[in-house]
Amino acid sequence: MPFDETIERANPTGFFDTEDITMSIATIHRPGSARTIDRGALLPGSAEYAAARARIVGDQYPAAIVEAASTADVQRAVITADRLGVPLTVRGTGHGSVAGVDGRLLLSTAAMTGVAVDPWRQVARIRAGARWSAVIAAAASYGLSPTSGDFPGVGVVGFTTGGGVGWLSRKYGYAADNLVSADLVTADGRLITASADDHDDLFWAVRGGSGNFGVITELEIALAPVSRVLSGTVNVPIDRAADFLRWFGDHADQVPDELTLAPTLRRSVDDHGPQLAIGAVWAGDVDYAAGALRVLRRVTGVDFGQELRSMPYAKINIPGTPPRGFELYDGLDEELIRAVIDAVAAPDGEAQALEFRHWGGATARPGIDHGPVGHRDVPFSIKINAEPATVDRLADSATGKQFLNFLADPSRTRTAYRITDYYRLRELKRRYDPANLLRPAHNILPA
Ligand SMILES: Cc1cc2nc3c(=O)[nH]c(=O)nc-3n(C[C@H](O)[C@H](O)[C@H](O)COP(=O)(O)OP(=O)(O)OC[C@H]3O[C@@H](n4cnc5c(N)ncnc54)[C@H](O)[C@@H]3O)c2cc1C
Repeated sequence: MPFDETIERANPTGFFDTEDITMSIATIHRPGSARTIDRGALLPGSAEYAAARARIVGDQYPAAIVEAASTADVQRAVITADRLGVPLTVRGTGHGSVAGVDGRLLLSTAAMTGVAVDPWRQVARIRAGARWSAVIAAAASYGLSPTSGDFPGVGVVGFTTGGGVGWLSRKYGYAADNLVSADLVTADGRLITASADDHDDLFWAVRGGSGNFGVITELEIALAPVSRVLSGTVNVPIDRAADFLRWFGDHADQVPDELTLAPTLRRSVDDHGPQLAIGAVWAGDVDYAAGALRVLRRVTGVDFGQELRSMPYAKINIPGTPPRGFELYDGLDEELIRAVIDAVAAPDGEAQALEFRHWGGATARPGIDHGPVGHRDVPFSIKINAEPATVDRLADSATGKQFLNFLADPSRTRTAYRITDYYRLRELKRRYDPANLLRPAHNILPA
């Protein structure tokens, strides 16, 4: 398209200076010119590009790199990608960047940090590059917490637009369910606010559709009224693991929404050989915890009431499991229970850890016209830290469905959605980004 038209499309609100853009784009095409474009946009051949490439993506070769500090930088980057005729891929922390960026414009939002909490509305306004740790710290001052995940170093935008599950999800839903609004730069360079009242089609799409519909510059999320939790990890002898998992398979749907359990079979705990280590978080009124903890004592023989401690949400410290495999299960049958215990406890077992989670609760009770986060009906997941043969064996009895945030294979993106939602996403991609300029790791192709 003609250059002037690009500017007009991109600058409907006069958000940035057209002359500035004209000069910067012209620089790209001028033979022998400096190998940088626009303020801070870097092209191969410059020392700045080499340094940024090494720092952000190691041995990959983007066509250009932009390290954005502002919304205007993001808009310029989108226009630049369009003018160069290359796809644009955003990187916040890089934790979920399971696809490469060779030949693309790489837009880093890492410098766009900042969080502001409105305690009256119980919301946080968060810039694109912020990590959960910053939100947790800011919200804690007001006795509030976000629906973040197990690791506070993960970026808020990638996590939330991928669904996002954590210790508070059973009570307060997916992170995507707690999105109030998103400011995003669409593929034509416009800055749009998507919320329930404004561009509601985009608002639907960003609540689980990843970064396919715009580069998000800021989010507003609802915070949960959670200040302190009861939490800890309770070690249970391996010979009680089968009974516990049978109980868990049969009764997880009766566990109060306030309680989230992460029963983890570990090959070795403190050099004591295989054990069942049950991570637990109670996020609710402690007076109501006693009944649920009594049941756990009956099933495991260990007094959870003694083992769990009251602590701020920020201090939850339950060891995680590196997910070399992640699968969703409709139930825990006898064959699966035997297979997982053998995988960590049998002499020829080769799994280091298998971490179960139960979902349901608020994740299975979304509001009307919730986003496209898929598989809300699936009750169990297992994170598998094992050799590929064990990962494959345990995957055999899984649903084949996925949570987008745990999906390492970009060719399986559609398995994260219900089929109708996937086609709705493709239709919206056609409407907002028909040329597929915006390419997150999980790319949804225009219909
Ligand atoms: C140690 C660890 C623990 C984890 N624990 C959990 C957990 O408990 N629960 C859970 O749900 N997930 C969990 N995850 C998965 C995590 O949520 C995903 O990897 C998520 O994609 C990370 O987002 P990010 O922004 O940090 O990463 P990035 O790689 O920077 O971004 C992820 C994706 O989002 C896109 N994106 C990033 N920023 C923007 C933007 N501003 N606009 C548009 N698109 C953008 C990127 O292009 C990329 O495709 C965990 C991951 C790790 C590494």
